[in-house]
Amino acid sequence: MSPDIIVVKIGTSSLTGDNGALSMEAIDKLVDEVAGLIELGMAPVIVSSGAIGAGLEELGFSHSKRPADALTLQAASAVGQADLVGTYKRSFARHQVVVGQVLISPYDFWNRQQYLHAKGTFARLIELGVVPVVNENDALADDAIRFGDNDRIAALVAQLIGATRLVLLTDTAGLFTGDPNLDPDASLIEEITEIDHRHRAAAGSASSGRGSGGMAAKLRAAAMASWSGIDTVIADASHPGVVTKAADATVAVGTLIRARAAHLSARRLWIAFALPAAGDVTVDDGARTALEHDGRSLLAAGVTAVSGEFASGDSVNVVAEDGELIAKGLSGFSAVELRGLAGKRSGIDGAPKLREVIHRDDMVLLNEEG
Ligand code: GLU
Repeated sequence: MSPDIIVVKIGTSSLTGDNGALSMEAIDKLVDEVAGLIELGMAPVIVSSGAIGAGLEELGFSHSKRPADALTLQAASAVGQADLVGTYKRSFARHQVVVGQVLISPYDFWNRQQYLHAKGTFARLIELGVVPVVNENDALADDAIRFGDNDRIAALVAQLIGATRLVLLTDTAGLFTGDPNLDPDASLIEEITEIDHRHRAAAGSASSGRGSGGMAAKLRAAAMASWSGIDTVIADASHPGVVTKAADATVAVGTLIRARAAHLSARRLWIAFALPAAGDVTVDDGARTALEHDGRSLLAAGVTAVSGEFASGDSVNVVAEDGELIAKGLSGFSAVELRGLAGKRSGIDGAPKLREVIHRDDMVLLNEEG
């Protein structure tokens, strides 16, 4: 039987001290707990940030004057990534565990061939008993296309490799009903079976530390994992034994976001989460109802506006008149073609019959609560 795969993501703010340097203590704590999962027969995968912070520190940029230009940050990531993985390697060596570095870029998820290839590499690493330490390929990724958000990468990796659990470690105990720094009545939400607007509002209000993601990014990653049939735990990295507790389905720690009962197929997950949207297609209320309630395809008659430049087959956002994101799908037309067709009825009163703007099979509704 193949082992349960647990993806553990840790952010910059939990790994580095106030000066941005990697905290040996924090890394050893994480590594001890992750090594404990191997002893329990599980296969852990780490998604670790901290490269840019560590590199800036090593290059002598003071933490208070963090450079903003992409090239310096990318150069810093190249320096810091070596340091980061070296630190994990030394720390895991105390447990006779071997680690392997995997750097990922958005292309690895967009291109299906590359996606399957990555899946094979992870599977082999796990078979060999290696703990993959994953980060974004920050040094080379074009700033405009990079994910820049390791919570998202962790969810994509969890889906790619068929993980049973995603553990997002952070510097708070989990998701609270409000910002615990501002609201003394805010309490920890222990379990979410369906993410809804209240959770999103609570996550949006939570302040974030040195990391880039914040709670909103964690909730989005958890939603992605949930659609993929994976449970997520958001918990405090500094809590003793947090990784062991989070990996154990019988123990409550942090906020647990449950997998949805109905999962999306691998292809729909790819459309919904891996492909970046190349533009927005705005639809009227009638079309919205047809999509959300009647299970229909999107037709040109319901399109009121088109933004962005995309080709036929590209992924686009479907948004309501009020700007709310309803769905994502593969457009049957280019942006130029669609601008000419928006609002036109098809096959009525002698008008030619048009194909669907987004066929039902190429569309994922994102606005269902949860
Ligand atoms: N990949 C970045 C780093 O290693 C961090 C991205 C994130 O914090 O989500 O520094």
